[in-house]
Amino acid sequence: MNNQELFLKSKTKVPGGVHSPVRAFKGMSMAPRFVKQANGAYFTDIEDKQFIDFCMSFGPLILGHQNEEVKGQLHQALDRGWTYGTCEPYSLDLAEFLIEKINFIDQVRFVNSGTEAVMTALRLARGVTGRSKIIKFNGCYHGHVDSMLIKAGSGLAGTAESSSKGVPNSIADDTLILELADLKIVREVFEREGEHIAALIIEPLPANNGLLIQEQSYLEGLKQLCEEFGALLIFDEVISGFRMGFGGMAEKTGINPDIVTYGKVIGGGLPVGALGARKEIMDHLAPIGGVYQAGTLSANPLAMVAGLATLKQLTSDVYQQLEEQTQKVINLLNQFAQTHANGQFADIKFYRQGSLFWSASSTTINRACDIPATISDNFNPLFSELLNRGIYLAPSAYEVGFCSMAHDDSVIADLKKRLGL
Ligand code: PLP
Repeated sequence: MNNQELFLKSKTKVPGGVHSPVRAFKGMSMAPRFVKQANGAYFTDIEDKQFIDFCMSFGPLILGHQNEEVKGQLHQALDRGWTYGTCEPYSLDLAEFLIEKINFIDQVRFVNSGTEAVMTALRLARGVTGRSKIIKFNGCYHGHVDSMLIKAGSGLAGTAESSSKGVPNSIADDTLILELADLKIVREVFEREGEHIAALIIEPLPANNGLLIQEQSYLEGLKQLCEEFGALLIFDEVISGFRMGFGGMAEKTGINPDIVTYGKVIGGGLPVGALGARKEIMDHLAPIGGVYQAGTLSANPLAMVAGLATLKQLTSDVYQQLEEQTQKVINLLNQFAQTHANGQFADIKFYRQGSLFWSASSTTINRACDIPATISDNFNPLFSELLNRGIYLAPSAYEVGFCSMAHDDSVIADLKKRLGL
């Protein structure tokens, strides 16, 4: 069967043919690619067409597909069994490794996804503060937690209504949604409702709705406001953790959040999420404290081993190399966008932060509300053109691209060739 046939079949068995909506190629006039296998910086689809992969499973594969060390550790782990439902040393190894390197966390708890990590972090913040409301920003994605699936309401600044059917507005009532990059409005909301605000959650590098780079002074201002009003600062580093340097944006900005959430890279491509904080905060979690959280497969030994084998390879040299390679990638993509078909894509510019990149008309977009409504009209034809050339970007104008250590100079040379440059 080809991709089209498999997609038609999949749609009869799975809602929309996919297990996560962005995989559906919505708005594209073609079926998603069904991956047969992947290695290094490439995957091959069911029709035996090979692609350079710039999606990399939406971020976890910072070392590329089938990294030899991770694979070797996984093979050994398989021989020890793959879930125990009781204590084991492998999660302790990963916890120790993290805590040693990330100075603002004393303890960590492993869960199965970024969504779970955020869900637990929010509950923990509410349990610690005894307050109910959470500030969240438009354009930041925090997984499919009910209270995070919201959009701006029509009331006072910050008011929200649910953005997904199935999320009652009574849940949205406890979330205050604000535009990014505006400290004044955050202060206003804290002054109005500060005594009810348990936490402010932000992707310190918002990378789920474009790449909306925030100023250092803004992030510092958020930290100060949280301190002033007794709310906890949650950095959701599910994408940026171990990607923007080992310690993510917290390390890069020198701002210590009260709670941090991780996902993606921390599991090396297996399902893991984590939250970390100082001991006095983590002590509120069950079984010590009254904030409940549990998981049959939490700290799954295969995932722990894959995570540790990945993180151990992330030296500062690796980050430097990742940045250099990503710069080469976007230079080529920009050259292509500027010159192809008499400037058909000339409005598109690629830019990067670390090893993440995004295509937009301007590098200065830092609020979701400033993303042009035409962005998909520009991006979708470029996506198709690149796909035909065997270059795979995440299938949406709002998603970022990811480079990995497998995107070496031979891949860059191949990219150049595929782009006809
Ligand atoms: N938080 C952020 C910043 C994310 O980027 C994501 C996923 O893209 C999540 C939370 C949810 O993670 P998961 O998809 O593992 O549930």
